[in-house]
Amino acid sequence: MISFTAKLGIYFMLLDNTKNGFSLKSNFELKKAYFLFKIISNKSLTNIGKKVLEFSLKLRLPILFLVKGTVFEQFCSGESLDESFKTVERLYEKNVKSYLHYSVEGLENEESYDTSLNEVLDSIKFVANKNILDFTVFKPTAIANSKILQKVSENKPLEKNEQELYERILSRFDTICSLAHKKGVKILVDAEESWIQDSIDEIVLKMMIKYNKQKTIVFNTSQMYRHDRLEYLERLKNIAEKENFLIGIKLVRGAYIEKENKRALKNNYRSPICDSKELTDLNFNKGASYILLNLNIFSLFSGTHNEESIYKIIDIMKSHNVDNGNQKIWFGQLYGMSDNISFNLANEGFNAIKYLPFGPIKEVIPYLIRRADENTSVKGQTSRELELIKTELKRRKTT
Ligand SMILES: Cc1cc2nc3c(=O)[nH]c(=O)nc-3n(C[C@H](O)[C@H](O)[C@H](O)COP(=O)(O)OP(=O)(O)OC[C@H]3O[C@@H](n4cnc5c(N)ncnc54)[C@H](O)[C@@H]3O)c2cc1C
Repeated sequence: MISFTAKLGIYFMLLDNTKNGFSLKSNFELKKAYFLFKIISNKSLTNIGKKVLEFSLKLRLPILFLVKGTVFEQFCSGESLDESFKTVERLYEKNVKSYLHYSVEGLENEESYDTSLNEVLDSIKFVANKNILDFTVFKPTAIANSKILQKVSENKPLEKNEQELYERILSRFDTICSLAHKKGVKILVDAEESWIQDSIDEIVLKMMIKYNKQKTIVFNTSQMYRHDRLEYLERLKNIAEKENFLIGIKLVRGAYIEKENKRALKNNYRSPICDSKELTDLNFNKGASYILLNLNIFSLFSGTHNEESIYKIIDIMKSHNVDNGNQKIWFGQLYGMSDNISFNLANEGFNAIKYLPFGPIKEVIPYLIRRADENTSVKGQTSRELELIKTELKRRKTT
């Protein structure tokens, strides 16, 4: 793809600069990352690794030190908030911002939802006390019963006790967004499976109407692998114009493709997912463009490692004279992945921000397994990581 900026010759190959991209990594760390991505890229090895891990944990074998020195170090920022903040500071030296997430999955009961609520409230207070942090995040199902969310999404009537549980969900959302508003901390609400997402969208809309009057505090997530999401963005804009509030959107492609397609096939309904990767890409880029052309109402947090989409966003920004550091536009990447994107964007003054998961090693293993699986299935991403590390190691050898 030749981008508008490429034609200008300013940002050509911006994201290929491995010197910037890996400026925080020593040779040893780079070689370790190479080894890790090489293993992860092999589906059989990843599956064997997962089985060995599960088996060893069951037998209480001392395996966690191995996890810590490998996947944990690569994809997590630490075991505690304070430990993770050291990573935040290291990234900030290179102008890369962070947002932290306690990535421990709790049980599905009211007590656990209240515990998660308190964790999110603590994270808001933590961000408010650190002037180098802007955002925090939460996953709706960490604070809400997914069966109730599904029933509401399907417009089914709730029993009396379910209505009470739903009121508690609304109250937890409101407690979080109200504190975020009071402290001026931006809050990202993750997107989940389509069959519970309508009710989440409805609740987040209420929160935006209430708390996004002057500033964009609450951000919903829009998964552009869904073929109905452009209409969702348009609908949201119409409501915002009438109700006079600002919209925050984290734009992603979507993480639950296999689950979505499988369920649609099993229950014989049209899958909500675009028919091909190309259509998802098109939908994502159209969504980004729609938001960028309506920056008077929207803020864009683009959660993608897709370089073409990032170049497209930069193109639109340049062609509309939007400053690189415009506070309404953020580029998010996961910690341990796509450092070439984060560090090169930050070097040019764009708002690059890393998602930093943290928590006790044993507790974040489900998150780590998902990352390994994702990197195994997203072939292009892993080979891109390997190619970039190889280039940088070669560059260091010759300079
Ligand atoms: C900061 C950040 C926050 C995120 N938050 C969320 C979140 O809240 N909720 C969530 O669901 N995900 C979230 N994700 C994950 C995201 O949705 C993607 O799964 C992931 O980033 C890979 O997509 P990509 O745009 O980076 O790159 P790419 O590698 O270009 O795209 C891969 C994606 O394309 C889509 N795709 C692949 N094959 C097909 C196909 N055959 N047909 C249709 N579509 C296809 C899938 O969505 C797949 O994940 C987040 C990612 C980041 C970086």
